[in-house]
Amino acid sequence: MSAPSDPTRCPLCGQSNQCTQADPTSAGQDCWCFAVPIDPAALARTPPQEIDRSCLCPRCAQALPPNAPS
Ligand SMILES: [Zn+2]
Repeated sequence: MSAPSDPTRCPLCGQSNQCTQADPTSAGQDCWCFAVPIDPAALARTPPQEIDRSCLCPRCAQALPPNAPS
């Protein structure tokens, strides 16, 4: 067994996932991840054991290009 995963960190890049669900100070609020579509390719890269456990970070979840049009 490796170290337990940190639910506040993105399992893909290790950066903070900014998930409000994992933050006691904002628990109960809807996370950003409820409002954005998650890129299927990002999900495919996520270890199965991390899905439903650790959120992706906004960047990985949306596979954002460096200069995404908005
Ligand atoms: Zn990430």
